[in-house]
Amino acid sequence: MPSFGMMIDGHSVAAADTFTVFNPADGSPVAEAPNATVADLDRAVAAAKAAFESWSRKTDAELQAACEAVTEAIGEHAEELAQLLTAEQGKPLNGLGSRWELGGAQAWAGYTAGLSLPMKVLQDNNEGRVELFRNPLGVVGSITPWNFPVMIAVWHILPALRTGNTVVIKPSPFTPLSTLRLVEIMNTVLPAGVVNAVSADDQHDNIGAAMSGHPDIRKIVFTGSCATGQKVMQGAAETMKRLTLELGGNDAGIVLPDVDPQAIAEGLFWGAFINNGQTCAAMKRLYVHDSVYDAVCDALVAYARNIPVGDGREEGSVLGPVSNLMQFDKVKRLVEDASGRGRVLLGGKPGDGLFFPPTIIADLTDDAPLVTEEQFGPALPIIRYTDIDAAIAQANASATGLGGSVWSADVASAHKVARRLECGSVWINKHGAIQPNAPFGGVKSSGVGVEFGEEGLAEYTDIQVVFS
Ligand code: NAD
Repeated sequence: MPSFGMMIDGHSVAAADTFTVFNPADGSPVAEAPNATVADLDRAVAAAKAAFESWSRKTDAELQAACEAVTEAIGEHAEELAQLLTAEQGKPLNGLGSRWELGGAQAWAGYTAGLSLPMKVLQDNNEGRVELFRNPLGVVGSITPWNFPVMIAVWHILPALRTGNTVVIKPSPFTPLSTLRLVEIMNTVLPAGVVNAVSADDQHDNIGAAMSGHPDIRKIVFTGSCATGQKVMQGAAETMKRLTLELGGNDAGIVLPDVDPQAIAEGLFWGAFINNGQTCAAMKRLYVHDSVYDAVCDALVAYARNIPVGDGREEGSVLGPVSNLMQFDKVKRLVEDASGRGRVLLGGKPGDGLFFPPTIIADLTDDAPLVTEEQFGPALPIIRYTDIDAAIAQANASATGLGGSVWSADVASAHKVARRLECGSVWINKHGAIQPNAPFGGVKSSGVGVEFGEEGLAEYTDIQVVFS
């Protein structure tokens, strides 16, 4: 079986211990991943700290060129990385799967390379000149989840590099391989120590926790669950780290009475089921007005019924298995409970192994755990409403606030509803469509800070103001 190394100071380094990564489609072993210790982490942080000395002194043009070289290297290895991603994560090669994720990673990397944060003159008059600079922080620690491991690694690493920081990344133990290989590829075009990677199984040494408290890491960019995000925040307090926390959500979609159900069915489906629902800003509960309720349910089910689910390595699969047993068990529990409360329109019963068919359950109310908890899987609850103010209040009742959507033939009235939703991103007649020039982040418990665009880039810097 292949064995992957950590990437420390420009070298692939074997760890003393390894753990096996399995393909969720059939449970077969894919490869051994390094099970890093805190001592390994310390070596990676020391390498990043040493590399920061010269990396942070590079000119803006040099940093841009380096990020462009990284973008090109990702593009050259896109197919290899997509195959690896499918093997460890389960998502299909096609559709909105691994090849699409690699395309996104490349697009984000290229866009980020082209951004910059030039010095701003705040004042220049007889009383003096005041200049605002954006300085790099130092070593950035990146901790990523298993749902979009390559794309999220790029979201963390590229803005850090572009602003003159160096990086240590720790991927999820479920999907470490594509990140280890991605960082190895980046190292072919970057100086040693600028980007380092360690992976671990979270069992013997919790490397994520060690990163959060590490004295030589100046910032943590974390994408994952709210519960772990809180631990990161606690761990980071003593060293006063900068934090970007992209956490969970329970996004609501609201369908207004004037929609054409046929016209929105495809958008509703992909808004909820992209990546098998294992998407932070997927639609996780759907509120439909009574007057179009049955027609919307019928149109959505008719579309969902034809989606091919299978082994991600098969070119014809459009959705794959659930990515790991922990997540599968959660979806199973929530669906079993909801099946006893509502009307199962599609799916509802687990398939073989980690396969779970797209499941749509109607006639639920806001006390069902499938509505109140983040299912993060292929199961959508539908709730009937009659009063828009009540529906908005229900959408906003969540402690989280990542995304939301409003569906209507009249964009102006949808816009009015959209502005009342308590969430960081809100879409009209689509859901979850993020882009590299628009800041993305959660309100309330969904996180701290934003990624993407100049606002996201600025989070990898401290402000220094020079008065002369
Ligand atoms: P998770 O919180 O279980 O794990 C995320 C990462 O944290 C993993 O690398 C894990 O090893 C690490 N970790 C574990 N314990 C840690 C600790 N004590 N300190 C620091 N790090 C630790 O999340 P997950 O199950 O991998 O991902 C799913 C969650 O991520 C969902 O809630 C989803 O909504 C969220 N998510 C959010 C976004 C976003 O941009 N807002 C994007 C993707 C996923």
